[in-house]
Amino acid sequence: MVRNMAIRKIKTDLDPVLRKVSRPVDEINDRIKILLEDMTQTMYKAEGVGLAAPQIGVLRRVIVVDIGDGNVYKMINPKIIESDGKELGLEGCLSVPNRSGNVIRPKTIKVEYMDEEGNQNSLDANDFLARAICHEIDHLDGILYIDIAEEIFELVEDTEEQI
Ligand code: ZN
Repeated sequence: MVRNMAIRKIKTDLDPVLRKVSRPVDEINDRIKILLEDMTQTMYKAEGVGLAAPQIGVLRRVIVVDIGDGNVYKMINPKIIESDGKELGLEGCLSVPNRSGNVIRPKTIKVEYMDEEGNQNSLDANDFLARAICHEIDHLDGILYIDIAEEIFELVEDTEEQI
């Protein structure tokens, strides 16, 4: 792949693209690999811990997550197949500037996904990683955390982790 990485513009909550349902990816090709790379770079540039493709205007079921545990999770067609427990926690979102909110999410999940080599994988995640993955998968269905939050706070500046 001969191409420089590109930082893409992040859509914010007034953009209708964030409310659409994304389509599954049927095959891994260079476009999908470029999308994953651009999403990863865009997430780091924005200092977020996760990003979903619709946040950069691409309606495909692709997410990237890096909560700082030493892994960059790049997931294609992610699907939660098991979840357990409930936990209330604070979330922010790169597409919802200057707000944060308390959201109930599962404490543990099992997620199935395809990796960028086209292999089917599964991951057991808990606590903040589970939260971040749930938040990103919601983006693929046009759901923002502000839709399901118990409480929403206006922030003077972004101080929470943005997913
Ligand atoms: Zn988000």
